[in-house]
Amino acid sequence: MSEPDVAIIGAGPAGLIAAERLAGAGHKVAIYERMASPARKFLLAGRGGLNLTHSESLDALLARYGDARAWLEPAIRAFPPQALRDWADGLGAESFVGTSGRIFPKAMKASPLLRAWLARLDRLGVALHAGRLWTGWDASGAMRFAVRGGGEEIVMPRATLLTLGGASWPRLGGDGSWVELLEQRGIVIAPLLAANAGFTVAWSELMRDKFAGLPLKRIALSFAGQRVAGEAMIDAAGIEGGAVYALSGPLREAVARDGEAVLMIDLRPDLAEPELAKRLTKRRPAETLSNHLRKAAGLSPVAVAVLREAANGPLPAEPETLARLIKDAPLRLTGMASLARAISTAGGVRAEEIDRDFMLKRLPSIFIAGEMIDWEAPTGGYLLQACFATGVAAAQGIGRFLTTRHARA
Ligand SMILES: Cc1cc2nc3c(=O)[nH]c(=O)nc-3n(C[C@H](O)[C@H](O)[C@H](O)COP(=O)(O)OP(=O)(O)OC[C@H]3O[C@@H](n4cnc5c(N)ncnc54)[C@H](O)[C@@H]3O)c2cc1C
Repeated sequence: MSEPDVAIIGAGPAGLIAAERLAGAGHKVAIYERMASPARKFLLAGRGGLNLTHSESLDALLARYGDARAWLEPAIRAFPPQALRDWADGLGAESFVGTSGRIFPKAMKASPLLRAWLARLDRLGVALHAGRLWTGWDASGAMRFAVRGGGEEIVMPRATLLTLGGASWPRLGGDGSWVELLEQRGIVIAPLLAANAGFTVAWSELMRDKFAGLPLKRIALSFAGQRVAGEAMIDAAGIEGGAVYALSGPLREAVARDGEAVLMIDLRPDLAEPELAKRLTKRRPAETLSNHLRKAAGLSPVAVAVLREAANGPLPAEPETLARLIKDAPLRLTGMASLARAISTAGGVRAEEIDRDFMLKRLPSIFIAGEMIDWEAPTGGYLLQACFATGVAAAQGIGRFLTTRHARA
């Protein structure tokens, strides 16, 4: 087999968009993917509608990346949400802005978009080698791949892009096994941790038996000075869902530091506490407290159950105290769900390890992009947005590298 100009290892969105850009610029590109087929996590993301990006202002969007904004910003500005929408549109996946401001393809799934994308890559001459597990370098600096079914393949490209993803949902291919390979080469990597994941709660037996699987709708969660409105889901082990994920970074740090974190739940964010207290004064003598809370405060049975868990004893009878608890129900989180079940991964290759072209400073000719770099963001389309933008930026960097005197002839 003749050697490619560029080997891209990992066929997720970051790798595929880089392949498209590089092949479009005339470079000979080969993709190596350990699984039997590409982009399995992208396809899974499609099961939730495939939230591609977000329609909020670019400044608000950039703020979602926290400290990583400083180095992600140029890449996202160069490939902003509109560029991502236009690209999807070009593949026949016209998108729309949902009521929450999130952007989805109209088909609300990934498979038609991926099919069109792979066909485009094929037309561009990109070779996709599935069933190739990258296992590191040989003594000459060539890339080694264990071939599914047996044997080894050695490839010596002029440049390599690693887009190996994080370590959530390892059965889809990304398991973080690259960490050891890069650490052996002196690359500094922040520990891979769960992001956008649920937390464990020591629910009562009643809560686990009767309310697991039920949503808490139209709530607001607060922690460490941040307040997030949205939804959460009760499960047997604890609590998860969009509003929880949005706070998962600070919650994860608190749980790691203190062994627990107390999340405050506002079960009626649309009602001020005095108004709620007023409504709660009018209880009929024969009415149970649960019924009263349902009728007067508009709480669902699962919200009442959460209130009881938060009270950790009998619910207060005084309307003012009850209203305060409804607006600020404390929930003790005892741990975080495992990385394997998380939507995304925090940690990864430290930003200081890469230059502005996304090349590893210690390993010239090796570039990285996507979720394997150390950044995190909430759900809302910010994950795919950054994976696409860094993939495009790394492709540009590789293009520059291949045309400079540093590249091997
Ligand atoms: C359930 C779920 C829903 C999601 N929904 C959304 C959403 O709606 N919107 C959003 O923005 N984000 C969403 N995400 C996150 C998003 O899918 C990821 O952030 C994104 O796929 C990461 O892209 P990537 O290219 O960096 O890595 P990945 O997509 O993880 O791809 C990495 C690839 O590298 C391969 N690989 C790994 N190691 C090796 C090796 N040693 N050799 C060869 N190949 C290897 C893997 O098999 C994999 O194919 C979701 C994630 C999950 C789990």
